[in-house]
Amino acid sequence: MSQVYKGVQFIPGQDEFIPDSHVYVIGKPESGDLSLVDAGLTGKGSYKVNSIKKLGIRPEDIKRIIMTHTHLDHIGCLAELQRDFPAAELWVHKLEADLLEKGDDRAVYGMEMFKGMCQTQFGLDVNAFKFKVDRKLEGSETLEIGDMIWDVVFIPGHSMGGIALYEPVAKILIPGDVVYADYAIGRFDLYGANAAQLKDSLDKLAKLDVDILLPGHNQIMKGVPADYIRKTTKMWEPYLV
Ligand SMILES: [Zn+2]
Ligand SMILES: [Zn+2]
Repeated sequence: MSQVYKGVQFIPGQDEFIPDSHVYVIGKPESGDLSLVDAGLTGKGSYKVNSIKKLGIRPEDIKRIIMTHTHLDHIGCLAELQRDFPAAELWVHKLEADLLEKGDDRAVYGMEMFKGMCQTQFGLDVNAFKFKVDRKLEGSETLEIGDMIWDVVFIPGHSMGGIALYEPVAKILIPGDVVYADYAIGRFDLYGANAAQLKDSLDKLAKLDVDILLPGHNQIMKGVPADYIRKTTKMWEPYLV
């Protein structure tokens, strides 16, 4: 748990046998207009809520939860967070939002076999991932939230409706699971994934000037070398066809 930059706080995922995504709290503390980026794995709600409270954040200041994408390790504890932050809206890219509103959980579980395993493990019922989405993102918005500016970048490939958030002043990139800090990229074998789209999305991110990389899992990275995303993309290119 720590402040990455003024207006960006980091709550690390607490991985179990399934990974738990990191949560980032974005927005200047004094704005009273804070956003959570992603939620985390099923069962991790109280850990995330307690971590947020320990940061001294008032529950009523959490105005929205923005999902980079809706895989189980990011959305699993969303309902748990919504209980503690009832005023928070839910913002999701429209392609995955439409599925959530229908209760279509294919993008959540990614594959049928994993769905059965998780439903048993966590005691999840069939409507566990039916959500009302307050704002459906398109992927080219400029959000003025929490006294900061965040660009929404549509980056499908790891999932069909993946987005990144990019803050151009401090050059902060929150890319979900599309690119990580250790020359890794997100998997592209789950429902809605597409290798060629992932390549295009990585190319799009490589054009951004990034100093701080805040991925969905594992280490975060400050002082990102100028060609880091381009190099990472190059390494994976043979697989992304
Ligand atoms: Zn994912
Ligand atoms: Zn993930």
